[in-house]
Amino acid sequence: MIGGAGKPSTRRPAIQLQIKTILNRIQHYVGFVYQDIRFTAEEGSQGGIAIRLEPHRGIRGRCSECRRPAPGYDRLEERRWGHVPLWGIPTWFLYAPRRVQCPQHGVVVEDLPWNEGKRSLTTVMMGFLARWGRRLSWRETAEVFQTSWEAVYRSVEWFVQWGLAHRELQGVESLGVDEIHWGHGLRANNFLTVIYQIDACCRRLLWVGKGRSQRTLRRGLKALGTTVVQGLRFVCSDMWKPYLDVMAAQAGQALHVLDRFHITLHLNQAVDHVRRGESSRLRAAGKSAAQQLKHMRWTLLRRGSRVRGRARQKLKALLTSKLQTARAWELKETFAHFWSYRSVSWAEAFLYAWCGRAMHSRLEPMKKVARMLRAHEPLLLNWFRAKGEISTGAVEGLNNKIRVMTRRSYGFRTYEAMEIALYHTLGRLPEPELTHRFC
Ligand SMILES: [Zn+2]
Repeated sequence: MIGGAGKPSTRRPAIQLQIKTILNRIQHYVGFVYQDIRFTAEEGSQGGIAIRLEPHRGIRGRCSECRRPAPGYDRLEERRWGHVPLWGIPTWFLYAPRRVQCPQHGVVVEDLPWNEGKRSLTTVMMGFLARWGRRLSWRETAEVFQTSWEAVYRSVEWFVQWGLAHRELQGVESLGVDEIHWGHGLRANNFLTVIYQIDACCRRLLWVGKGRSQRTLRRGLKALGTTVVQGLRFVCSDMWKPYLDVMAAQAGQALHVLDRFHITLHLNQAVDHVRRGESSRLRAAGKSAAQQLKHMRWTLLRRGSRVRGRARQKLKALLTSKLQTARAWELKETFAHFWSYRSVSWAEAFLYAWCGRAMHSRLEPMKKVARMLRAHEPLLLNWFRAKGEISTGAVEGLNNKIRVMTRRSYGFRTYEAMEIALYHTLGRLPEPELTHRFC
């Protein structure tokens, strides 16, 4: 209490603040004491803060295998761990670990609560870097906290591995499965298979792996475990055959739903296909109508109600034309009604009528979509049976986040690093508990 007017007796004496006081307050390790803290300023360097720890006298070291107290054996050389920097000054923990003689495990190094294996950072520092590594790029994190990219990567990796080992998979009822293109080229290795949880209560990335074959998905499901797979009620995916086959074989009890956004994607691709074909035909023939298709790609791909301003006028003009693209667009736009039905049988009737129109459109890309929809009709109608049970926009939303991460190069140098980063940002993983929240 400061300056309690008229009541000087309640005033506490001011104490000299020591770094040790702060350390004991925010991260006290039972069995160890902060011995001394020194500022070491070597010539030509900005210096650093060295925090030396010692064993608490009278408390025995614990075996690092079983965590039980054991008699001391000897002491090893002093080790050094990078710690959270103070005011931008590099900070280290220094400690000479004891070896203990455990009745069960023999002579082993003692358990150090701030240490994880042979790592050169304290667990607190690793958690600190990992949390910042979610807000900034890893390179920026390394720069800001005067460490290496590698150190940030290894910290995130530790954080993620801890999270994966401690996450709860109970109550996962709905999965979204999708493929994501990654890197350059169209080889199998340029695709990732992602498995999301898309329950209304929790949307997160559960698994990611290279490839998009049956084997890839089987690997993913195996990682989630049979309890999860057999407890599934809904699965949501594109019409990609390997995924459909694996899910039917392994989670036959679950209702397989074709995602709205994937269907829309196929329709958009078909419209674009028609536009490109028509545009080059018109240009080749020197027809002025080619002008109407110029710069229309993105306008045509949007939902009609979302096209505004000049683009809208251009679109209107295009639609009054007799162009194939106009008819293709109109078919795509009409299909949007499909999703608004409440009754499965009405939706079914609509689908039948729409496919009939598309098949008579003389537009091959639209006919192709119609054939595809017909072939998957039961799965398509499952969408209405699952309505309200799964969050249908989830797959698209999570995909977009992944694309942002993989495209905007965050400087993941390897696939493994990117995988870690995806779990880190989208996995909603539990975090190791620390006694103090540094950031
Ligand atoms: Zn032991």
